[in-house]
Order: sequence, then C-alpha cells, then structure tokens
Amino acid sequence: MRRVKVPEPISGGLLLSYKCTAECRHCMYACTPKWKGDWIAQKDLEEVLSQLGRTIRPSPWGDQTVSLNYGLHFTGGEPFLNFELLLKTIEVADQLRIPSTFVETNCYWCSNDEVTRERLELLREIGLKGILISVNPYYAEYVPFERTERCIRISKEVFGENVMVYQAEYYHRFKHLGIKERISLEDYLELTKKEDLTEEVELFLMGRAAHQLRDLYPAYPTHSFFGEPCRPPFLRNWHNHFDNYGNVMPGYCGGISLGHWQNLDRLIKEGIDLEEHPVLRFLIAEDVQGLFHFAEDFGYQESREGYLSKCDLCLDLRKYLVSKQDFDELSPKEFYLHVD
Ligand code: SF4
Ligand code: SF4
Repeated sequence: MRRVKVPEPISGGLLLSYKCTAECRHCMYACTPKWKGDWIAQKDLEEVLSQLGRTIRPSPWGDQTVSLNYGLHFTGGEPFLNFELLLKTIEVADQLRIPSTFVETNCYWCSNDEVTRERLELLREIGLKGILISVNPYYAEYVPFERTERCIRISKEVFGENVMVYQAEYYHRFKHLGIKERISLEDYLELTKKEDLTEEVELFLMGRAAHQLRDLYPAYPTHSFFGEPCRPPFLRNWHNHFDNYGNVMPGYCGGISLGHWQNLDRLIKEGIDLEEHPVLRFLIAEDVQGLFHFAEDFGYQESREGYLSKCDLCLDLRKYLVSKQDFDELSPKEFYLHVD
C-alpha cells in the first residue's frame, strides 16, 4: 500500500491554539499555560474554514442544532483566552454558512453572571449555535465548580437545547457531593472512596492521561495490545481535529499529523504518501505492533513497567521516535514536550 486516502471530514474541531488556563491530567492534546500562544493567524483561519465549509455536515436535527459528532467546534486549549479571535472565527464560519457550530470551554472565565451572559449572548448573536461545557474531576482541579455551574445555567438560557455538558454524570456527582470550589483529584477520590474513574464515564487513556494517571490503572506488556484496533478508528470522517499549525489530526490522537489542511483536497482525493511517512504507514498498515518494531530498529526498549493502554504504548513509541529523528507526521513537536 503506497497511498491511503483521508476520509472527507463531516465534523471536527478547530484548535485556535494549544494554550490553556489549565494543565489537566487527562488532556489528550497536552495543553498547558506554558504552551506558546501561537494563535491561529487570520489568513489561516479563513483558509481552513473555507476548506472545512465544503464538507462539514449539520447535526441530524438541523444546522441550527448541535451534536458532538456533527458540525464544527472551536476549541483549544481554551478558546476564551483569546475572545477577539473566537469572535472573528465565528463570524467567518457564519459567513461561510458552516452548520452546527459550537464552542468548547472549561468555564474558567465565568466569574460572574454579567460577564458570562454578555459573552454568551454576543457569541449567539454573531452566529454561534451552541456550547460544550467540560465537567470532570481533572478540570475541577483548575476551575471552581461554581463557575461551571454558572456557565451551564446561563448557557441554557442563551442557547436553549444546544448545550452539551461533557460529562453530565460528573455534573450530577459534583452537585450531589456539594462541591463548589476547586478540588484536587486526590481529595475527590478520597471523597468518593476511590471511585473508578472509568466506570460508567468515558475516559481515553491517551495523551497526558496515559502518563499522569499511571498509578490508578493496571499496566500490561506490549504484546497485549498487538492486533487491537484503534478505537475509534484511526482514519474516519467524523470528529477529527485541525490545529493552528496546519495539522490534520486523526480523531483525538494528539501529536500525529495526517498532513497540512491546506492540502486537504489532495489528501482526500490522492491520499497520504505512506512511503514518505513511515509512522503513519505502520499505524495504518501494521498497527502499533509495526510501529513498535520500527522503533526497536532505532533502539527502543519495551518498558518493564508496562503500558496502560494501546494509546499509552503508541505515545511512548512516538516520543522515542521524536527524540531520534524529525518525522513530519509527528507534529506539533511541542506536544511531546508538554505531554508529561
Ligand atoms: S483538557 Fe481542556 S481544559 Fe484541560 S488542559 Fe486540555 S484543553 Fe485545557
Ligand atoms: S493507538 Fe495511537 S494512533 Fe491509535 S488511537 Fe491510540 S494514539 Fe491514536
């Protein structure tokens, strides 16, 4: 197999930058306040939105509604850190009639009702359709829960049904536990008598989670993950990400680039040249087992401590390869600096 075509994206997220107010232990994209504020440039913004405007599809309930795996969302990092840019992004997306748009936030900025309402109303007026509000114990280490509650309450008044709380289970648990302020993960686990953080609630052990939550989960040797498919699939047409550096990121796989979104049409019609991108070639054709043997050729040695998940192994292999050679498909490089 020499080339493989990138599926035409019907939904996805645009990262305005990787800079964030938080440094969550589960962050798939290794976002942090330490990341350079390389916000997407105006020219790039118009270009990427024009590209995506051709293929993004509306939610099954219509273009004025939102749905996690349809439409386009604006994310980061924390997009409210650059509110002017967020406004511009929404204006351009609205001019291009991109359907089912929503913004994703950790609510750090919702310090009072007035500011929260003012900003949300402005976003709605210029064309934003909805919002996704993040709730789980990892955000709660950084954002007082009362700000999250405020954002949810006022968002429902502004966006009606177009408010997604990810994850609602945690919202109810936090309410039940009477949490109001920030709470450390250790204190939260104490409070919940060490609840299983993956029980009933989706958690991908990838990105920073694979490193930071190491003590909470069992580890397995490399061969346990051989032959296991990527879940969700590595190449798919829904919920891929496009970043401020130009990378087309497969799904949630931070630090992997399928190419530059300037070439999206070519990636869709002609495909990725796998000869020129060995990491992609192994991940696509031979899975993580192939990548493991490729990294062994560079001197990689299996960790004696084992790996929490296939994505943990994949990330460890990629980190090693980045330290040995400059692979275009392992991008952005700063991801590998901030993931630990
Ligand atoms: S998970 Fe969200 S809030 Fe947390 S560091 Fe990543 S981008 Fe920021
Ligand atoms: S194993 Fe690697 S390529 Fe597959 S989903 Fe996990 S991080 Fe992505």
